[in-house]
Amino acid sequence: SETPSDEWLSYQGAPTGTEIECEGWRQEAALRMLNNNLDPEVAEDPENLVVYGGAGRAARSWDAYDAILSELRDLGDEETLLVQSGKPVGRFPTHERAPRVLIANSNLVGNWDNWDHFHELEADGKIMYGQMTAGSWAYIGTQGIIQGTYETLAELARQEYDGDLRGNTVVTSGLGGMSGAQPLAVTMNYGVCIVAEIDESCIDRRIETGYCMEKVETLDEAIERATEAAEAGEPYSVGVHMNAAEMLEEMLERDFVPDVITDQTSAHDVMEGYYPAGYTTEEADTLRERDPDRYREESLDTMERHLDAILTMQDRGAVAFEYGNNIRGQVQEHRDRDDAFDFPGFVPAYIRPQFCRGRGPFRWAALSGDPEDIRRTDEAILELFPEKERLARWIDLAQEQVQFQGLPSRVCWLGYNTDSEGDEAEDSLTERARFALRINELVAEGEISAPVVVTRDHLDAGSVASPFRETEDMKDGTDAVADWPILNALLNCAAGADIVSVHDGGGVGIGNSLHANNHVVLDGSELAEEKARRVFTTDPGMGVVRHADAGYEEAIDEAEESDVQIPMRDN
Ligand code: NAD
Repeated sequence: SETPSDEWLSYQGAPTGTEIECEGWRQEAALRMLNNNLDPEVAEDPENLVVYGGAGRAARSWDAYDAILSELRDLGDEETLLVQSGKPVGRFPTHERAPRVLIANSNLVGNWDNWDHFHELEADGKIMYGQMTAGSWAYIGTQGIIQGTYETLAELARQEYDGDLRGNTVVTSGLGGMSGAQPLAVTMNYGVCIVAEIDESCIDRRIETGYCMEKVETLDEAIERATEAAEAGEPYSVGVHMNAAEMLEEMLERDFVPDVITDQTSAHDVMEGYYPAGYTTEEADTLRERDPDRYREESLDTMERHLDAILTMQDRGAVAFEYGNNIRGQVQEHRDRDDAFDFPGFVPAYIRPQFCRGRGPFRWAALSGDPEDIRRTDEAILELFPEKERLARWIDLAQEQVQFQGLPSRVCWLGYNTDSEGDEAEDSLTERARFALRINELVAEGEISAPVVVTRDHLDAGSVASPFRETEDMKDGTDAVADWPILNALLNCAAGADIVSVHDGGGVGIGNSLHANNHVVLDGSELAEEKARRVFTTDPGMGVVRHADAGYEEAIDEAEESDVQIPMRDN
């Protein structure tokens, strides 16, 4: 049915507190996370079951949503519910250590794996687009993108500078949905950020929410203030109300070359995502309506100028990278430029070295709904990893600057790395397992008031095949090999995760990616300890073996240092 269900209207977010509706916390966690995804504070368009990322849904229809809730309430501790593209389709007796919920979303057989066929099935109510964390009930709002951007820039700073961006200027563009996280992520790394944004209301919104510090009308002012802040080593961010291509060209005319140049306009979409130079947004919107062909040509012309300016800045010493918006692909395809890919994408440059070590975006939510529980987990992570300066900086800043949406939650990057600095009892535990076991203890001791569910993004070390993004330009050419996410999902089941999911198309669209996820519910029990110990070894371990298999030195080193068994490693 088209109208939101009464159940959803009565929840309007995850139920909280220590009383549960289901037979156990594992089922309850699924029920709360599904409702958290559809919390009006969390989801983009909950009345249409859309969580984020275009049409990424949490359930196929309102009837399917109601049915999932009633199945979860009734589901025993030795049963498993099957959800196929957002609809419950079966329930089987399994066993206590098995997952309580298994989810598959949007998957199609190779030759049919495209948007056209998907849309036909979708119109017929047979399939649902699950994005990454929408259909797997693991979305937590904008904290994820802020942290991902922070990690990317922190890795850049580690590779290029002394571990942070102090004294360095990052120039970029776009202050929209995801791109708006850029200035905050730069200042969290103590750097200076100048951002071009053609839509003034986007700059204002980012200033109101504390993501960007100031707005100026002229580029001279922006350069002057940014230079002062960089010289003083102070964090600073400024939005400039200009077209990105024009701003970069004017910077070059003034001989201003930043330390880092990137871009997050929605260049992946020539018509709706990118603005041609020489127009205000209103003028450009009118042009798009009146003369779409001309809009398209002018938009592509601007993109080419934009890319040329990035390449020139790179020639003059700036560190340049593409931030996943496909500006390189657009210019290559439509303007026949074979130098468009002369600067790297952000994954090969900054994310992959982390994936090699099993590092990735690990997140958890307090099922109690009590922010105090997350504060306690923040404390625990700082106690467990005192040597991780970058992590400590993130936790401090997140406490100060990130507002919770829906269930209180936290995200951070942890990896494999079983080296716990001489503590023998901990020696065989991965970073993720050490953290999860500590949280489980705190729940058992009553220091955390209700169970905590640990999950992650599908964009993780060993869980995704996505040739335009996470697996772009793999060393051994295996960008499109999708055995890895499938093995990851199977292994998550074998290790006893409580929810396991496998999806097609997240981030880059149907047919372009395959990816998997897991949830583990830490309820303080021995069973939870056993599951956490296994899942948080095998899951980041998949990242190490996948990248070692592709020949990455960092992954081979991690496997050796942390004793990950890889057959045929010497072949
Ligand atoms: P968005 O559309 O909400 O924001 C883009 C902003 O750019 C808009 O505010 C728009 O006004 C502005 N803009 C467009 N053309 C411009 C121009 N020529 N000059 C100045 N401003 C211009 O999109 P978003 O959610 O912020 O994402 C931006 C892009 O970054 C997308 O292509 C997205 O796929 C990509 N991205 C990828 C990743 C990743 O993990 N791969 C992460 C973040 C963003």
